[in-house]
Amino acid sequence: LLSTMMDVPLTVPFILERIRTIYRDRPVVSVLAAGRDDAGQPIPQVHRSSYGEVADRALQLATALLALGVQPGERVATLAVNSHRHLEAYLGVPSMGAVLHTVNIRLHPDQICWILNDAEDRVLLIENVFAPMIPTIRAGCPHLHTVVVLGGLPQPMEGVLDYDQWIAAYPSSFQYPELDERQAAAMCYTSGTTGNPKGVLYSHRSTVLHSLASAPKDALNVGERDVVLPIVPMFHVNAWGLPYTCAMTGAAQVFAGMFSDGPTLARLLEQERVTITAGVPTIWMGLLAELDRAQQAGTPYNLSGLERLVVGGSAAPEALIRAFRERHGLQLAHAWGMTETHPLGTVSTLPPGMEPGTDEAYRLQAKQGRTVPLVELEIISDDDHVLPHDGHTMGRLLARGPWVASGYYKGSGRNNFLRLNGQDWFDTGDIATLDEHGYMHIQDRNKDLIKSGGEWISSVDLENALMAHPAIAQAAVIAIADPRWDERPLAVLVLRPGHEAPEHQELHRFLAPRFAKWWLPDAYEVVERIPIGATGKFLKRELREQFRGYVAR
Ligand code: ADP
Repeated sequence: LLSTMMDVPLTVPFILERIRTIYRDRPVVSVLAAGRDDAGQPIPQVHRSSYGEVADRALQLATALLALGVQPGERVATLAVNSHRHLEAYLGVPSMGAVLHTVNIRLHPDQICWILNDAEDRVLLIENVFAPMIPTIRAGCPHLHTVVVLGGLPQPMEGVLDYDQWIAAYPSSFQYPELDERQAAAMCYTSGTTGNPKGVLYSHRSTVLHSLASAPKDALNVGERDVVLPIVPMFHVNAWGLPYTCAMTGAAQVFAGMFSDGPTLARLLEQERVTITAGVPTIWMGLLAELDRAQQAGTPYNLSGLERLVVGGSAAPEALIRAFRERHGLQLAHAWGMTETHPLGTVSTLPPGMEPGTDEAYRLQAKQGRTVPLVELEIISDDDHVLPHDGHTMGRLLARGPWVASGYYKGSGRNNFLRLNGQDWFDTGDIATLDEHGYMHIQDRNKDLIKSGGEWISSVDLENALMAHPAIAQAAVIAIADPRWDERPLAVLVLRPGHEAPEHQELHRFLAPRFAKWWLPDAYEVVERIPIGATGKFLKRELREQFRGYVAR
């Protein structure tokens, strides 16, 4: 028997309409770079706007894209920092039926071009600070027909539009097209375990559901009274969905542009009376150092309004969670997710009756936590058998839910998806335990990737490049623990017979043209042999064990 309920498609215009009407006056604050000081450091400048203004401009953008001839389903890329303009694109692009494709600004220009070409982006919205990349991108990306610069250009550039001027020419009255909730609203690329990155397409439906499911108390705890500073970049899984969650619930938003250093963040948290903020552990380590410094100097920051710092992207060490609480009275909430899960999967909140600040509580908070509603997790063995949820048995972590990917763009990476007991699951590539209360704890990683300061480095890409060096027969790149960046790459090498070990500097020079600087290994170690498994692959886990505690010289 069918219900008598309406079947209303869940689409992004619902979110846009909330900020345009109900939450018009809620503030949107962006800290942008206004030139550089004598030391070459960007000078912060605060820009104040409101949801009403953001909504109007998002609709102007939608009209401008329509006038440009952008068709439903076509991709509009951003190479942009966190700001009100990026938020306008988040809302305006999907609302006119196109797909918002947020591209990672930290990649090498060759990788950026590869991704823009794979996605066949038609329009690029690029931050003025990255304008020097425009000629390379234009030359390398034939699909791209329009480049728009955000934040103005110091000098005009031929054929490049200025975003503010461009949208100003269009009205904010806009007739939303009919949208299917299953159609793509946004797109993100994830670093591929075996080489090329893979595109994940978020639907209107998954975006709306994720913004509803990530708001409640035991998830990210976002409501209209909140002021949220997402430090996680907007090119990273939609800044963990926060721009949409905040707009849906009316929470004010503060954006830090390209600033992520401890002092700037501490000042911003204090001045804007931020209640919730989110970022990777590396960011919180920088903030902690600044809070400690200010406290010791007798000039502590007043962060009394700050209720929750969400930490994810990499494991949050228990010591970090303790330090924030014990030294500054601040709560870190540990969360786990990934590009393929939109991203929110779990949050580690305490069950009723458990006293915060106890050893038991800290141990639990250092786990990645329990699922948010509608997400399910499972752990399985290498031969696909379900493993017990006893808090000890480790297995491949699987996820499913209405905002979990069921495939990649253009059908790549099919091995990441499987059927288990009649259900579809996504294999996360993480190795985890689950306990009887549902707390998930990441133990290791099955995928060949290194996470440095919240950003991926592909070990496979580095290995392939290294193996092209005349002196190198085999190369395996693994993660070594790093106090600041969490993980850094170490290259383990086997030499060709009769060859001397190349100098560190020579290998750096050899790799430099092809990779962003922060991808280059911290160290190179020559060994007699690299352990190889039954299927002929390097046994990375064994190698990681061998180099546990390794310190780069
Ligand atoms: P994100 O932008 O959330 O970092 P990615 O898709 O780039 O998303 O990375 C997801 C991967 O990062 C996970 O599969 C896992 O390996 C790692 N990760 C994310 N959050 C955590 C966490 N809290 N603890 C440990 N690892 C994490």
